[in-house]
Amino acid sequence: MHASFPVDVDLALVGGGGAASLVLAALDRHDVTGLRVAVVDPVHKRGQDRTWAFWGLPGDDLDPLLSASWSQVDVVTPAGRRVLPLDPLRYAMLRSAPVYDRAAEAERRLDAVRVGAPAGELHDDGERVTVRDPDGRDLVRAGWVLDSRPRRPSRPGRTNWLQHFRGWWLAADRPTFDPQRAVLMDFRTPQPRRGVSFGYVLPVDDRFALVEYTEFGPELLDDAGYDAALRGYADLLGLDLNALRVREVEDGVIPMTDGPFESRPSPRVVRLGTAGGATRPSTGFTFSAMLRQADQVARALAAGRPPVPAPAYPGRHLWMDAVALRALDRGHVGGVEFFERLFDRNPPERVLRFLDGVTSPAEDLAVMRSSPLLPMTGAVLGDAAGRLRARLRR
Ligand SMILES: Cc1cc2nc3c(=O)[nH]c(=O)nc-3n(C[C@H](O)[C@H](O)[C@H](O)COP(=O)(O)OP(=O)(O)OC[C@H]3O[C@@H](n4cnc5c(N)ncnc54)[C@H](O)[C@@H]3O)c2cc1C
Repeated sequence: MHASFPVDVDLALVGGGGAASLVLAALDRHDVTGLRVAVVDPVHKRGQDRTWAFWGLPGDDLDPLLSASWSQVDVVTPAGRRVLPLDPLRYAMLRSAPVYDRAAEAERRLDAVRVGAPAGELHDDGERVTVRDPDGRDLVRAGWVLDSRPRRPSRPGRTNWLQHFRGWWLAADRPTFDPQRAVLMDFRTPQPRRGVSFGYVLPVDDRFALVEYTEFGPELLDDAGYDAALRGYADLLGLDLNALRVREVEDGVIPMTDGPFESRPSPRVVRLGTAGGATRPSTGFTFSAMLRQADQVARALAAGRPPVPAPAYPGRHLWMDAVALRALDRGHVGGVEFFERLFDRNPPERVLRFLDGVTSPAEDLAVMRSSPLLPMTGAVLGDAAGRLRARLRR
């Protein structure tokens, strides 16, 4: 811990996980110098605690850190297998360890101060922000704070689902996986009563792959439930688990909700990551938005501007996601049918760019048209009524 508090800096990163690590790497990439930076987090993130899968254009400074990337992915349903060519995009896998190492390197170059304590309240007087610990002691005074501490939406959503999953990193003694073949979503898994489930496979080479079972829905499984679901999915893939070693286990829960995440709670505090609304409500994908916003923050600071990124997703996408979540939750449309039609009736690049929140209104309309219209209309009306009721209550 730093010796004399409060530490005086230009920029404080409160929370030093995924979003903050990408900001630190981006500050390095944009060669930002002379900026006094502090990172406040009781945990110094290191090593492997998650794997990020995301799509994007190849050729950025993350490329050397990737464990694998694929120019095509499979989407599998009981009706068959679609191979989606992704060019010019690629699907990529990034383990957390090299990202945290990259952030640590950037911290050293920036000569950033590490405060290994939890942050409590942030006091923003419009000129500077004081970061206090939970007992009210001043830890840091900063010109700007980027806050990525996990938090709930500022009010509960009308639909509150979770993306929850368990993955096994499976190691084999002989060639078992096809390193060219990544499975994005495999919907042949038994479907839950409420929600949708799928498996996926991300091979690093022919002997090492991440095999994961995921559910989108309102309730978590217990430990035995995830293991049973993963064993079932391994069976579906024809994998002999007796011949494989589970080298690592990866669990996660990500919010899928239309509850709002406030991204600018006060003039000099910006929220990033899941806390700032970077998690796409309809899929749980977060990484691409975090990466985009980190780049915007670093560009702004390099140009001497306030580190305020554009919203993670356009408002119309959040509305479309609210409708889709509602339609799925109220059973207006089946999850497998929903994703099947999305991938069937749109070029893969459009779907992936839509999920990243970067499509144009005309492309969004095409995506809308490809969804089951009638039940979705019911959900649109239900969503509008829900919004109106909430507004009247407020
Ligand atoms: C296992 C897992 C796998 C995922 N895989 C993907 C994926 O493949 N693709 C994708 O797009 N998204 C994925 N996500 C979702 C998302 O990308 C990650 O959750 C990402 O790490 C979010 O970054 P973040 O900075 O918002 O939160 P985190 O990375 O969780 O960082 C939050 C930080 O805040 C710190 N903190 C907490 N309390 C305090 C406090 N009081 N004071 C200071 N600091 C505090 C924590 O110690 C932590 O370091 C995954 C999530 C998980 C959990």
